[in-house]
Amino acid sequence: MSQDIRFDLTQKEVPQAWYNLAADLPEPLPPPLHPGTKQPVTPEMMTAIFPENLVMQEMSTERWIEIPEPVREVYALWRPTPLLRAVRLERALQTPAHIYYKYEGVSPAGSHKPNTSVPQAYYNKIAGTKRLSTETGAGQWGSSLAFACELFGLDCVVYMVKVSFLSKPYRKLLMQTWGAEVHASPTEHTDFGKKMLQEDPDCPGSLGIAISEAIEDTVKHPGTKYSLGSVLNHVCLHQSVIGQEAIKQMELAGEAPDVIIGCVGGGSNFAGLAFPFIQQKLVAKKPYRIVAVEPESCASLTKGELRYDFGDTAEMTPLLMMYTLGHRFMPPKIHAGGLRYHGMAPTVSHVKKLGLIDAVAYPQTRVFEAAVLFARTEGLVPAPEPSHAIAAVIDEAIKCREEGQQKVILFNLCGHGLLDLAAYDTYLSGNLKDGQG
Ligand SMILES: *Cc1c(COP(=O)(O)O)cnc(C)c1O
Repeated sequence: MSQDIRFDLTQKEVPQAWYNLAADLPEPLPPPLHPGTKQPVTPEMMTAIFPENLVMQEMSTERWIEIPEPVREVYALWRPTPLLRAVRLERALQTPAHIYYKYEGVSPAGSHKPNTSVPQAYYNKIAGTKRLSTETGAGQWGSSLAFACELFGLDCVVYMVKVSFLSKPYRKLLMQTWGAEVHASPTEHTDFGKKMLQEDPDCPGSLGIAISEAIEDTVKHPGTKYSLGSVLNHVCLHQSVIGQEAIKQMELAGEAPDVIIGCVGGGSNFAGLAFPFIQQKLVAKKPYRIVAVEPESCASLTKGELRYDFGDTAEMTPLLMMYTLGHRFMPPKIHAGGLRYHGMAPTVSHVKKLGLIDAVAYPQTRVFEAAVLFARTEGLVPAPEPSHAIAAVIDEAIKCREEGQQKVILFNLCGHGLLDLAAYDTYLSGNLKDGQG
């Protein structure tokens, strides 16, 4: 074979510890604030909804946090994930650039999300939690948490945004297969859900509403804790296995990336790939350009404001310092359901503010054009979310061709699109529009 295209680590090379960027930040992260007092939230306040061990991780500034053996055992079901070189895509683009992708779609749930659902379920289990409550949009997070809860013997209740519950039954069935209880949000189970239904019996739901319901469920049920699939520090921390593996795999490939690209919803898959590289940027002065790609119709980093805002619609969460479109912003129903969130992880917002990363936004027509080119060259059908990253990768590779530069590009293919084929149908039949579903 003329060219190596796959770079695999052995099981022993799965990271032993998660990397915490908070230890290396040149300026500390602004703390979350209590909405009433505007004072930093204390660990005691957070333990109302999270177990103490995860609260400690959320607030930790320790650089390395050891991955417990039972979590590494579950990671071994799909980790290390492959790093591949997209030679056929390079040829199709006639670019001198080398394009690499880290493929996180090999997990049981088909995305990067089990990297954090598994440790979250584990830490809850050892803290004595009996049941986890969460929300999900299109179902990627709900299915990842359902899988993890099943492995560690926890009950799982998922508030799924009603439009997705009705229009996207497959991930709901995945959650139920893994033993979770799934409700179409807004529900009659919570006061906030009832209020929403009184105002509008046909309310389609939103992620912000579902978060509010999941938190209300948590505080009302003893033995229940809440779990979030993105945005928070401990979630970004758990995802750092992606970047740590990618650093070793790029070494195996004998190359160093010039440009590192990931899509951003709440920011966790991007953080997972990028933060270990940002450490090298800070500590070893590596000149990486790191780019976050978001949908044009829900563009918190490129069009939002950096300020304190709520994480949910009902104003139940602490105030987080983040790029936000406002907690009442209702994103249009684009196909990349996982990228429809009004805010951005405080850590990702912070590195953007510090100039350590760039951000760009793409409309979904460009995204699906890129997704189909990727599927037709590399074979894998990408999820609509990472197809945002692919669109930016393609533009970068074309620029390399035009300017005669041989850059090395690395991106995170954080999920497959086999449960998103209805979105491909819309695109392939010529019915996809920008700014709507
Ligand atoms: C959830 C999800 C995202 C967006 O969430 P982040 O926290 O920004 O990573 C992106 N891609 C896929 C496949 C997802 O499931």
